[in-house]
Amino acid sequence: MNCLECDAQVAVPSDAIQGEILTCRECGTSFELVRTGSEGLFALQPAELEEEDWGE
Ligand SMILES: [Zn+2]
Repeated sequence: MNCLECDAQVAVPSDAIQGEILTCRECGTSFELVRTGSEGLFALQPAELEEEDWGE
C-alpha cells in the first residue's frame, strides 16, 4: 500500500497484525495498521508515536 503523505510504497509484512506501526521510508511518517471490513486486508491510518520519544 502507499503512504498517505507522499504516496511512496510502504511495505506491509506478510505477518502484519492490527495495530502494527509502519514507517514510510521516504518521508518518515508513521502509520498504524487497521483492519478494513474484509479479513486479511488492512488500511493505514496516521499514528501518534506516544510510546517512542525520539528526542528531536
Ligand atoms: Zn511517505
